[in-house]
Amino acid sequence: MANLTRDFFIALSNSEFLNENARKWGFRLGAEKFVAGTDIYAAAKKVRELNQHGITVTLDNLGEFVYDREEAIEAKNQILNVIEQIHELELDSHISVKLTQIGLDIDKDFCLENMRDIVAKANENHIFVNIDMEKFVHYQPTLDLLKELRKEYKNVGTVLQTYLYRTEEDLKELKDVRLRIVKGAYKESEDVAYQTKEEIDANFIKVVKERLQGEAFTSIATHDHHIINQVKKYVEENNINKDKFEFQMLYGFRTEMQYALAEEGYRFCTYIPFGNDWFGYFMRRLAERPQNMNLVLKDTFYT
Ligand code: FAD
Repeated sequence: MANLTRDFFIALSNSEFLNENARKWGFRLGAEKFVAGTDIYAAAKKVRELNQHGITVTLDNLGEFVYDREEAIEAKNQILNVIEQIHELELDSHISVKLTQIGLDIDKDFCLENMRDIVAKANENHIFVNIDMEKFVHYQPTLDLLKELRKEYKNVGTVLQTYLYRTEEDLKELKDVRLRIVKGAYKESEDVAYQTKEEIDANFIKVVKERLQGEAFTSIATHDHHIINQVKKYVEENNINKDKFEFQMLYGFRTEMQYALAEEGYRFCTYIPFGNDWFGYFMRRLAERPQNMNLVLKDTFYT
């Protein structure tokens, strides 16, 4: 049953028709609990609140399903504006970008050019750029683009998903790159990905331990307290410097735990999505945690 519910919401997240229409609806279905507004100024208020509690942020100007060059350039310009605003408003934030938003499905070289502009501008402003990892079909192209970008810039990294069998292998290749480790949000086949929570969790712990033995910075992105507790224990037992890693969670999830971890002295970063393109992101969150459906029902029937 849990798998069927997950598959249902993932299928909705993949619907171009619904994504397209949701852009016109404005916020619906309780999405504002997880998406911090439709523009950078609304998001900046949330960034400030978190910064005041010693929490840093990664901002995601939401967007996916872009198959048109003009739209991709528009998305790039919006991201350049986010970088400017981070600088001008003196926000403690880096940015997260999805390559499909800036042309990966149109042409890889075109996407690389757009990404170069983004990473160059971020570099001028000492801002880190994280490339979010999307579906497996985009996995190798994402790593290829990252490799190209890193020939010129060091302020760019990406995400590894521990549901993929090949993560451990890629870890070696990316040992000098700042990485975010996640379980993985998409539906992937058993040809490429573990299917059970036990296997995915075990791989998560294995990958994180390996990263913490290396030098590069790691973002441990999970809401799973079992994993967080294991990481804390490992760090303590092995005398690992707390500056080598941070915990990350999504905006609107386990907020009290986010503040508590920051208060305990761990580096903490909240992922804040904003923008009109909220539908696919929101459906993936429902896929992970159908309990969030309560919010949808409340929003639909009681407002
Ligand atoms: P789950 O496996 O969903 O939950 C494990 C357990 O934790 C649950 O059984 C429950 O006991 C507890 N729990 C979880 N959530 C809650 C809650 N809200 N309240 C109470 N208990 C809870 N995926 C990608 O594929 N690409 C990306 O680039 C990417 N970036 C991400 C960035 C961040 C900052 C985060 C946090 C996630 C990102 N993800 C990304 C999504 C990720 O892959 C997972 O799909 C998502 O985080 C759900 O897995 P989980 O590790 O949080 O725990």
